[in-house]
Amino acid sequence: MTEDKPEAVEDGRAWIEIDLDALAHNAAELRSHMPSGCELMAVVKAEAYGHGSVMVAGRLFEEGVKSFAVATAEEGILLRESGLDGEILVLGYTAPENAGLLRTYRLMQLIFDVDYARQLDETGCKLQAHIAIDTGMHRLGIDFSDLTALETVFKCGNLIIEGCATHLASSDTLDSGDVIFTCGQIEKFESTISALKTMGFNTGKLHFQASYGMLNYQNLRCDYARAGIALYGVLSHDEATAVRPALRPVLSLKARIAQVRWIGAGETVSYGRTFMAAAPMKLATVCAGYADGVPRQMSGNGGMCVVHGHKVPIIGRICMDWLMADVTGVDHVQPGDIATLIGSDGGAEIRCEEVAAAAGTITNDILCRFGIRLPRIYKGRKPEGAGR
Ligand SMILES: *Cc1c(COP(=O)(O)O)cnc(C)c1O
Repeated sequence: MTEDKPEAVEDGRAWIEIDLDALAHNAAELRSHMPSGCELMAVVKAEAYGHGSVMVAGRLFEEGVKSFAVATAEEGILLRESGLDGEILVLGYTAPENAGLLRTYRLMQLIFDVDYARQLDETGCKLQAHIAIDTGMHRLGIDFSDLTALETVFKCGNLIIEGCATHLASSDTLDSGDVIFTCGQIEKFESTISALKTMGFNTGKLHFQASYGMLNYQNLRCDYARAGIALYGVLSHDEATAVRPALRPVLSLKARIAQVRWIGAGETVSYGRTFMAAAPMKLATVCAGYADGVPRQMSGNGGMCVVHGHKVPIIGRICMDWLMADVTGVDHVQPGDIATLIGSDGGAEIRCEEVAAAAGTITNDILCRFGIRLPRIYKGRKPEGAGR
């Protein structure tokens, strides 16, 4: 006699929910703020900031997005194998030994160095490429003033240069020093591009905006805007931007409560006994910890979760697999109930920006930690062929 294997429920312990309709809304909202002629390049690196790159890119393609950016060739290959069409730009380093993969999977490679260009060229693979021009970020790219190096790249016979890009270092604030610096970066980029054109090169599609550039410098002409974090409906931090689009958070993080019990005044909670109850307290032990991506730095720093529509504090140190919450003021909390760590429940909300602030970091960092052992549950319309 064969016995059917029981299937695990996805929302049995801790999970993330991804609202694909919110994602589509954000894409439309961002596009409505883009200058005419500029197309959205969806940045779906790091599993689309933890949201699942195959589903995110698949749905965005159906919304008319035809251009994607990833950090690694492997991320691009995953998308191609899922059936994704359109352009895929690899923003990160691909070893020249893997040039054949770029070719086979029609991935465009960002070229950031003249020696790197030569190495790729010598592989003999015809490769589509964009050039990264460094205008002051000093992370990656050929210096804007080095026209000789740029000319060498354009003359690499096996590299088909289809675009040029730069990256802004401080477009996320409107402090006057940062604005001056950002405008300087853009001027450098534009002057280099016009010099290259004068030299007779086709600089192709031009792009320099990421989310914050789009929101703080929205009228600059360009061919692509490389939107990452804003597409996921959050901003990196709470600082105001010039344009405030009506974005909807795409990701929620939820977990079951495993145990509920009372502790007495003077009793402590979790490792290191950093928290002591001043009065009798009802504690809920939640099935989520730092191994699930809940930042441990949030311990004792204002971290909250939502239980039955009430925002309650996380108490004591966050453990690898657990965290404890003070649910003294919430009636009828039982094991099996849901605690929301990011997202809303019953009218109360915890935004990813709050979690990031409590952890002393930005939302980008928080979002891409999820997913090692958390199932993703997709809500809203899934792309055709999904489950792909
Ligand atoms: C990650 C990345 C982006 C997207 O940045 P967001 O701030 O998330 O929009 C854009 N461009 C480059 C080069 C990147 O590495």
